Amino acid sequence: MKKIFVTEPAMPPLDEFMPYLEKIWQSKWLTNGGPFHQQLEHELAEYLGVKHLALFTNATIALVTALQALRISGEVITTPYSFVATAHSLLWNGIKPVFVDIDPHTFNLDPKKIEAAITPQTTAIFPVHVYGTPCNVEEIQRIADVYGLKVIYDAAHAFGVKHNGGSVLNFGDLSVLSFHATKVFNTFEGGAIICPDAKTKQRIDHLKNFGIADEVTVVAPGINGKMNEVQAAFGLLQLKHVDSSLAKRAVIASRYRTQLAGIAGITVPEVADPSLQNNSYFPVFVEAEYPMSRDALYTALQTENIMTRRYFYPLISDFPMYRGLPSARIDNLPVARRVADRVLCLPIYPDLPLDDVDRICGIMRSWAQAR
Ligand SMILES: *Cc1c(COP(=O)(O)O)cnc(C)c1O
Repeated sequence: MKKIFVTEPAMPPLDEFMPYLEKIWQSKWLTNGGPFHQQLEHELAEYLGVKHLALFTNATIALVTALQALRISGEVITTPYSFVATAHSLLWNGIKPVFVDIDPHTFNLDPKKIEAAITPQTTAIFPVHVYGTPCNVEEIQRIADVYGLKVIYDAAHAFGVKHNGGSVLNFGDLSVLSFHATKVFNTFEGGAIICPDAKTKQRIDHLKNFGIADEVTVVAPGINGKMNEVQAAFGLLQLKHVDSSLAKRAVIASRYRTQLAGIAGITVPEVADPSLQNNSYFPVFVEAEYPMSRDALYTALQTENIMTRRYFYPLISDFPMYRGLPSARIDNLPVARRVADRVLCLPIYPDLPLDDVDRICGIMRSWAQAR
């Protein structure tokens, strides 16, 4: 029985990549803002509809740097329902994460619960566009303006997502994308910070290159966050195929919605406008009526060679370096807990055959009826 992975990277034809590699071999310019790096920054900014974009070797270093770029300190309000790198980037900056519960429909930070968590030490709000669903960006900005806070979005899932006619990446002070192999658009490893002005972009460019401004000037204790030319070249090639990848994902998501409809105990979250989404993940929720628990379903699907992912589970606030925080208490995060205990992300990637989607849904339906 063929194994169905939860995700597979979209790989453009290898022969299309060879001319890029030949150029790198000829120029011997391997990293440090080479020609492919410059070209990818421009093409991505244009494709995404954003003003400035700084490439990084991965999103985690980009998150750490984004916080440094805005000199964030003290306490930062964030979500427990994310990949652990979100909160880790705060600890790497000596910042205290303050977890706030999520909205039960979007799975994003619940704006109604933010104000109660603000203290005199709070300097920023650090939300995540979970599964590429936009946060309530207007309400978050309103609160930030009232309290004089910065807003940095972990937009690792939000490649190509639109909101109010423009890119969702234009909201907040900074947004961070991930180009990891598992994401919608990948450069093997990679990431980017999106920023609205040239001055901030320059500070970010210094920070990702050890703080070096010129041969004899170091302006900050920067890090090495540079994307190399092979990664950038792969990104340029990927960009040519990304619209087709997104279109294939939309077809798969729509097939799941049809095939999962009416299975007792399996809930598919409603999306406002599927055409604005990137279908980076396909989460479903295993409710009490389903004859097996979420974890039992996860294991049973594995025995059918179908890999799924409990994403996100456990909550970040459950990991040992966070669980002692006052905001990590269970009674502070009831919605996030409920969601994390029921979520199961089903396989989705551009080359996933629709027959496989049908098989996955058929199995889930037959188990629901076998009660
Ligand atoms: C993937 C991911 C990251 C980390 O990205 P890397 O490029 O792997 O460092 C951070 N936050 C979220 C929400 C992610 O999904």
